[in-house]
Amino acid sequence: MAATIASPADALAFVARFDTFLLDCDGVIWLGNTLVPGVADTLAWLRSLGKRILFVTNNSTKSRADYLRKFTTLGLQASVDEIFGSSYAAAYYIAHQLDFPKDKRVYVCGMSGICDELASEGIAYCGAHEDTDHITDMAHLGDIKTDPSIGAVLFGFDININYTKLARAFTYVHANPGCHFLATNSDLTFPAGGTVYPGTGALLAALSAPLGREPTVLGKPHQPMLDVIVNKYHLDRSRTCMIGDRLDTDIEFGKRGGLSTLLVMTGVTTQKELASSAIVPDFAIDSLGSLGTKYGP
Ligand code: PLP
Ligand code: CA
Repeated sequence: MAATIASPADALAFVARFDTFLLDCDGVIWLGNTLVPGVADTLAWLRSLGKRILFVTNNSTKSRADYLRKFTTLGLQASVDEIFGSSYAAAYYIAHQLDFPKDKRVYVCGMSGICDELASEGIAYCGAHEDTDHITDMAHLGDIKTDPSIGAVLFGFDININYTKLARAFTYVHANPGCHFLATNSDLTFPAGGTVYPGTGALLAALSAPLGREPTVLGKPHQPMLDVIVNKYHLDRSRTCMIGDRLDTDIEFGKRGGLSTLLVMTGVTTQKELASSAIVPDFAIDSLGSLGTKYGP
């Protein structure tokens, strides 16, 4: 059973165990465009104690620069170096952990966040919003040819996904065993406007199922994302806590990676789901805001 943080003594003892906090964003820091109450105070308290804070989100639609603007708009202090979205994780992975040849390009199914982060790491790419040449006649499907310059397919959330993009991504991986198959995240749904919608994982299934192959995923709960974070920041896993609102992504991510975990109840997980889940966080709290306000200094 998770240990509930429900008093100032609990909060102090919890905070003292860690040097670094990995914070999921949607459901923990904000809900859509609304700040979770008290979070600014909690972050300020953790900073005053010298704790390192990293923001770790699966949402690949934005770049670190986009997130920084969002933090500023919500009145939160943050720096680009503290932000780790799955779009950046994928770009970092390709640039630093894959032996990716300089003369190869990445074919992107995704949005501007992925393109901006690939550009920030000096990686050539194509596809994404530039890919407007949609095949509407079955007779022209044969126009989609394998392309030896494509060294990887990177699949992220793309609100304008269509059959032509899927068929191109499929062909590049299917016809070339040397082409890397990567995805920013695999969440089947994501929350918005009080409900959920099909997420990257839902779209990705249309590619991985016919390929008969799973991609390397640079999002929670998959460990390549944590490996990238540990590699960049040289974290001590035993002194790091993952804080999130979702059991099958955030908490599973921390548990698989040997981190401690704190579940907050401001996002997608209900008390009933927590009580019956096989994924058990080390700690639970009503809200990240409570840590620094209700139970903080
Ligand atoms: N993917 C998309 C497209 C989203 O909009 C969201 C949340 O808004 C997520 C994933 C999950 O993000 P997080 O990891 O911050 O909860
Ligand atoms: Ca979340």
